[in-house]
Amino acid sequence: MTATKPFSADDLFALVRAGFQRVADERAENASVSLPDTLMSGFALFSLKDPSLLAFEQRRTTDSNLRAIYGIDRIPSDTQMRTILDEVEPDKLGSSFKDIHRQLERSQELHQFLFLEGSYLVSLDGTEYFRSNRIHCSSCQQKVNKKTGEITYAHQMLGGVIIHPDRREVLPLMPEPITRQDGDTKNDCERNAAKRFLARLKQDYPGVVFTITEDALSPNAPHIEELHKHGYHYILGVKPGDHEFLFEQVALARQEGRTTEFEQQEGGALHRFSFINQMPLNKSNPDILVNFIEYWEIKKNKTQHFCWVTDFVVTKLNVFTIMRGGRARWKVENETFNTLKNQGYHFEHNFGHGDNHLSVVFATLMMLAFLVDQVQQLACALFQSAWDKKGSKRSLWEEMRNLFHTFEFASMTQLFQAIAYGYKAQIVILTPP
Ligand SMILES: [Zn+2]
Repeated sequence: MTATKPFSADDLFALVRAGFQRVADERAENASVSLPDTLMSGFALFSLKDPSLLAFEQRRTTDSNLRAIYGIDRIPSDTQMRTILDEVEPDKLGSSFKDIHRQLERSQELHQFLFLEGSYLVSLDGTEYFRSNRIHCSSCQQKVNKKTGEITYAHQMLGGVIIHPDRREVLPLMPEPITRQDGDTKNDCERNAAKRFLARLKQDYPGVVFTITEDALSPNAPHIEELHKHGYHYILGVKPGDHEFLFEQVALARQEGRTTEFEQQEGGALHRFSFINQMPLNKSNPDILVNFIEYWEIKKNKTQHFCWVTDFVVTKLNVFTIMRGGRARWKVENETFNTLKNQGYHFEHNFGHGDNHLSVVFATLMMLAFLVDQVQQLACALFQSAWDKKGSKRSLWEEMRNLFHTFEFASMTQLFQAIAYGYKAQIVILTPP
């Protein structure tokens, strides 16, 4: 890992901006603020982790750093930003995620995430980030209270992140909004969103093999067929209540001595496995066969228990790795959604809802800003030094915002240098805010 790898904040901002420049602008040619400038301003809002659009608006006219650091030529007003971004199809932002992953692949940084059989592990889960009885748009999910007739509006998204059991960083893929699709009168659901997510994953990363890991809701026959169709591996949580037939068959096999029982002592715990390959998923789909793992982690004061189905042929040699892949699924909740909600990103704050796409565009830009931060954490030595110096992300973000609003910088590299190595001696120009 060296500082010369192309993953400084400035490298990544340039990559993001280049992606935005390729998004077709369907507005009139005389539009006063360009679409790339507007998208980049939205990105800057989340990159700086501003608590509101108002905070961003208040220093718009004085902030030379937005121009110098984020390469924004004309900064939109908050109203302009909301109006312009409301018309952007969220799908068009996908290439910015792809460009960053491709860069990681080229520089071999992505290889740290290689999982079983040359695949990358992707944890997939849905989360809600907006709910209101009043504010809504054309893509809101709607729920009518049968007693009072009151409508609740909500937005959810299906997030997919590349993870590795040994790595703390997660690398978000373009999220799939769980929203009403154009012209739909019915609500969307996580399963449909998963179908679209997988189709786009295949299209965006042809030739890359993924292992999808999900929770206990997912393993039904159509979903497994969908994963199979794309050539993806899977490790999916299962519960006895949802898969009675499967668990009966496994119990029978265990009585007959057909399961493999295996124990391993590691990391202060006893890991006990019981597994069997080629079991029918359920009664109505006897032709869909899955490999089944039951697992206990036994520690002095606590025992944890998990069950998974997978397409990997389970052996004593790979069962430990598959277990770790299945357990790493939590990273999409803990390291992604919870970080966005509670670690300075303001995921559930309403920055503006719009009539069409604004809410989804903001959520997508926030996920992109989070990806850029995670990549720096993974592969930028300067970012790591600045983070070390501040001790926590929360105080790193605070210091970053403070310096950004107080001093003039030529680049984010200069700003992070100021944090990591001290700024009193370095910065001579002081601009009153
Ligand atoms: Zn909405």
